[in-house]
Amino acid sequence: MKVLKFGGTSVGTAQRIKDVAALVANRGKNIVVLSAMSGTTNSLVEISDYLYKKNVTGAKETINALEAKYSRTIEELYSSEEFKKAATEAIGERFDFIRSFNKPIFTLFEEKEILAQGELISTTLMYYYMKEQGINVVMIPALDFMRTDKNAEPDTQYIQTKLSALLEENPDASLYLTQGYICRNAYGEIDNLQRGGSDYTASLIGAAINAEEIEIWTDIDGMHNNDPRFVEGTKPVKELHFEEAAELAYFGAKILHPTCVLPAKLNNIPVRLLNTMDPEAPGTLIFNSRPTHSIKAVAAKDNITAIKIKSSRMLLAYGFMRKVFEIFETHRTSIDMVATSEVGVSVTVDNERNLHAIIEDLKKFGTVSVDHDMVIICVVGDLEWQNRGFEAEVVNALKDIPVRMISYGGSNYNISLLVRKCDKLKALNLLSDRLFK
Ligand code: ADP
Ligand code: ASP
Ligand code: MG
Repeated sequence: MKVLKFGGTSVGTAQRIKDVAALVANRGKNIVVLSAMSGTTNSLVEISDYLYKKNVTGAKETINALEAKYSRTIEELYSSEEFKKAATEAIGERFDFIRSFNKPIFTLFEEKEILAQGELISTTLMYYYMKEQGINVVMIPALDFMRTDKNAEPDTQYIQTKLSALLEENPDASLYLTQGYICRNAYGEIDNLQRGGSDYTASLIGAAINAEEIEIWTDIDGMHNNDPRFVEGTKPVKELHFEEAAELAYFGAKILHPTCVLPAKLNNIPVRLLNTMDPEAPGTLIFNSRPTHSIKAVAAKDNITAIKIKSSRMLLAYGFMRKVFEIFETHRTSIDMVATSEVGVSVTVDNERNLHAIIEDLKKFGTVSVDHDMVIICVVGDLEWQNRGFEAEVVNALKDIPVRMISYGGSNYNISLLVRKCDKLKALNLLSDRLFK
């Protein structure tokens, strides 16, 4: 059994929903995971923002516009009146629910219920379309098996037990359908796996059923060797090691959610990235690949802040690093990059939520300086240190750009460089020119 996940663009119009149904119909008894239609989750966020601000008119307008879009989709999707009626009723119920939040109290709890509607709607549309096509599809609701524990981590035991039971209850299905992104928390309340989290759903399901493969279907033919939003002429990478894919996803390659790799890696389940718009393209296979002694791809992570602590008095004393890191731990802020010298240490963080408090605490150990609006450029590949020349190539490519920090040797898979946001585009393009042409 495989898990086939389709992202927002892949189910973004009535025609795309039809294409996805045709794509999965004769491929065996697999589990199909869907995101919300593209743009829907953003609209639901917008509606929630209006409700937080008690702007009922704004919320109503956005809800009406979204509902009108779904009415048009239903009209185009189904050929029979019977299915148009069934889908209209089911989607109408979802919109009644969204409208029911027009109450004085609106909290994170209500927002999560609203955000869950996108995936509930897209899977309902697909379910009825498949039924109309005569496909023996069974819906396995994510809210019945996808759960997080008290630490907000997936409750893998619960997921596995519940999911197996649901599959066993429906042995005659030719296909299973479920929602990405949405789940319940440890208290049974509706929750989600963070924006872009449908990839994580697919991977958690893959791990739970020990799937043969996890396929992530999206709007591009695999992981490209650089970010196609900023660099022209990027090309798909045929194969990636789990570790390489994890680095790229974490450092900004949006095609894959950073959390998605781990469950697949732990269970050694290959992940294939494929293009719904070009299903024959080979895409990218992520698995325990052999070393290739090559640089595979570049990615960039935005909104990075660099913090430097300088202290000639303290650094050589043992325990200094621990004290510095403890401050970040206390403020629940994770560190991405680290560079040390005899007189100071620089670290980077990807959010400034607790920056003020962190700086105040760090000042006890020395002089603190901060650089905002930085970007981590991450070069990924089989970069074992005995292989010669890779770091020289990378640094050479960026010789005309001021580089604030370099991190190499933390793993066999990446070199990270910290540059200013205004140099990001140039840096990505220079690296592509040097490494992939
Ligand atoms: P989905 O909605 O299917 O989950 P996403 O928008 O999350 O799709 O991810 C696909 C997008 O990721 C592509 O359209 C592309 O713009 C972007 N992207 C960023 N970096 C890369 C990369 N290295 N390779 C491929 N796509 C990338
Ligand atoms: N629909 C959710 C989002 O837009 C989850 C996903 O697409 O993966 O973030
Ligand atoms: Mg995505």
